[in-house]
Amino acid sequence: MTKHTETAGQYPVLPLRTEVQLPGHVGPLEIGREASVRAIEAATRDDNLIVIVPQKNPAVREPSQRDLHEIGVRAEIVQVVKHSPGRFTAVMRFMDRVRVDALVATDPFLVASVTPVQPHSTATKEALTAMTVKVRDYLAAVVGDALTQASTDKSDKKDSKKASDDDDDDDGKEAAKEALKAKAKDLKPEVAKQAILAMTDPDKLVDAAVPYLELERDDLTTLLIETDSMVRLQKILPSLERRATVLRLKADIGAELEGESSRNHRERVLRDRMRQIQEELGEQDDNADVDELRKKLDDSKMPDEARAAAKKQLSRMGQMSSSSPEYNIARTYVENLLELPWGVTTEDQIDVSAARAILEAEHSGLDKVKKRILEFLAVRKLAPDKHGPILLLAGPPGVGKTSLGRSIASSLGRKYVRISLGGVRDEAEVRGHRRTYIGALPGRIIAGLKKAGSMNPVFVLDEIDKLASDMRGDPSAAMLEVLDPEQNKDFVDHYIELPVDLSKVMFICTANNLDTISQPLLDRMEMVELSGYTALEKLAIAKNHLVPKQTAEHGLEKDKLVIEDSAIKEVIQSYTREAGVRNLERELAALCRNAAVRIAEGAEAIRMEKGDVAAALGPVKFVADDAERTPEVGVITGLAWTPVGGDIMFIETRTYPGKGDLRLTGQMGDVMKESAQAAVSWMRSNAARLGIDHDKVLNSDIHIHLPQGAIKKDGPSAGVALTCAVVSAFSKRPIRNDVAITGEVDLRGNALPVGGIKEKVLAAHRAGIKIVFMPERNRKDAEEIPAEVRADLDIRFMKKVDDALAVALGPAPKLPDPEPAIPPPSGAGPKPTVTLPS
Ligand code: ADP
Repeated sequence: MTKHTETAGQYPVLPLRTEVQLPGHVGPLEIGREASVRAIEAATRDDNLIVIVPQKNPAVREPSQRDLHEIGVRAEIVQVVKHSPGRFTAVMRFMDRVRVDALVATDPFLVASVTPVQPHSTATKEALTAMTVKVRDYLAAVVGDALTQASTDKSDKKDSKKASDDDDDDDGKEAAKEALKAKAKDLKPEVAKQAILAMTDPDKLVDAAVPYLELERDDLTTLLIETDSMVRLQKILPSLERRATVLRLKADIGAELEGESSRNHRERVLRDRMRQIQEELGEQDDNADVDELRKKLDDSKMPDEARAAAKKQLSRMGQMSSSSPEYNIARTYVENLLELPWGVTTEDQIDVSAARAILEAEHSGLDKVKKRILEFLAVRKLAPDKHGPILLLAGPPGVGKTSLGRSIASSLGRKYVRISLGGVRDEAEVRGHRRTYIGALPGRIIAGLKKAGSMNPVFVLDEIDKLASDMRGDPSAAMLEVLDPEQNKDFVDHYIELPVDLSKVMFICTANNLDTISQPLLDRMEMVELSGYTALEKLAIAKNHLVPKQTAEHGLEKDKLVIEDSAIKEVIQSYTREAGVRNLERELAALCRNAAVRIAEGAEAIRMEKGDVAAALGPVKFVADDAERTPEVGVITGLAWTPVGGDIMFIETRTYPGKGDLRLTGQMGDVMKESAQAAVSWMRSNAARLGIDHDKVLNSDIHIHLPQGAIKKDGPSAGVALTCAVVSAFSKRPIRNDVAITGEVDLRGNALPVGGIKEKVLAAHRAGIKIVFMPERNRKDAEEIPAEVRADLDIRFMKKVDDALAVALGPAPKLPDPEPAIPPPSGAGPKPTVTLPS
């Protein structure tokens, strides 16, 4: 933003929901909305200037220009204090009124161009002067009285010893407020009075009077937006008159009290006033606050080092005013220390057969994974003090990684905390912000411990593969430290600044994609792979877990809703296309909602069958792609592995007259492009054998395209499929639509093994493919494929591209020969009979 040498210009805007501020004083503002926090941050980076504008309707969350009053106040940010997480208090000096001419930006915060408000008046100069003098005299009286009473209250506070709460004195509040104001400003009544009497500007006078009056929001708004000085004076005068009378009366009562009451009574009254002041200002008695924290500290099992740090802050707090920013920073810190579960651990109950029962009860299938987890728990039982390996559950979304983590925690009797790392870019999110930052907080690890309430919880670090790193630091380096048994005994969070022992925490990580996890991090972990489910497995999970869970969550009793297998199968086949069961669970929830509505409308009990699904979920979302296709020249189904499970992928090839160029589109990565080049080279070198006309190859360009261009595709595993597509395009032999192929190819036409076989085959099965070709050397991986899928699919192994070509490519269609038949040499055959017209 531009540096401001004069009022007019562009400033960040702070919209105020309920408050209205006028110029001429210093005061705090609470900031909670994110855009407001941004605006404050932007201003503090620049020249600390900001424009404060009240909203017309406090209910609007994201105000636009028409939701704001046209006049606001330019203010200088003096200090920003963190209050509680996400809330700040900014101390501002409110400077002058400005007119908001236009909002020049609304995101990430409002920015307005403003001009100064030009005061004017329709009244005569004399009338204006007379009115100004009247207001000034009243104001001087009010200020003088208010400050005098405030300073008396201040000395009262000093010598009173005992508190009492059996007296009620409303006026006490008022004087008390003044007392605090005076305390803040430390103004001598006489000096302040003289300063008022020296004022001649009617508008400044009005602004100066506002802090001494208790005006309603509407009155304050009128004073803010009114530009006629006379009207402003007239508006404020009655309130000033009232205030002057109240203060006079109060002074009289004070004098009485002085004269006749006993010292005890007086003390009681004053104590009570003090309590009211504090209530009114939302402050507590500083000492009570510190005492309470000190007591909590005594009860806490904090180690000595932490205790010393907390004590130091508490003694600092004892010497500060509770309204000072440092006080609140120190207090939040001590509270954070107290909230950590120092010395609290839960006792492990490692009973392998009980753990097996829990795992079985909460998850269908996953036999290998369960076996691996039980082994892991058994080792823990035998060697509880050894740092076991960290489990990494890897697999597509919705296969139960996170919920397995929860089951492990419950089978150990430990607390469970899920820490999501997806999209964490800033190291501070893991390790906390230093306390010097506005709004500093501990990082997610410490926050997780606080949430767990024990030092030995199970932390599920979700999506560890999505830790990103950029210029804000490298969160994976911080994670490395967290997971390193050599270092995590003394983990130091930037906010806490004390070593915290993480060595008893059991970490379980989850990930979709191993490629994006840094090698050092991967080395610390022991991987357990989970793969996608077959339709049959999904059916079992839905019947045993998802349907009972969703019906219960929707308040449907058992006999109220029955979802038949046929309906579940229909949802699996036609409404979801995923490796896991996340969307399946969502769609089943939609079925439950539908049933809940019908039952609320009077239906007795509902039984859903296949035919009822469309009525509840709408038209079918997925049709088996291949069922729709017919065999085509140059189009083949490949298989892809993605972090979210396997998928089928079409490869399209076209040839047209040209110079033998190769064009590749559809966001292919470099490795895949090289595969395509190898495919073309192999086809060329084998053209004669494949019955492809060599001249045609020389005089044609080739275009290979992978639809769904928005998705990046890479890797060598489409090699064989690419080769088949190219051969098909040149030989004009169509490719069977029920065949899918995966495998790398080399220039000799060998089919080389590839990864992700299980996910790819499951995807092919989901898509309705009948024959899957994979390299011979992937035979062992095929054993992982569930029996029901193997029974349904014809899985073939190939050593060479030719093996796939022989099955996937049909015979060339009999096309009319485009070349004219070469006439036989003259004289060799029967002479044509020529009939001439007679
Ligand atoms: P992930 O962490 O792998 O993305 P979740 O653990 O969030 O998956 O699982 C999504 C939903 O599917 C959860 O409600 C979970 O309980 C359920 N779920 C997944 N796999 C199974 C399974 N094998 N048995 C029972 N429920 C399962």
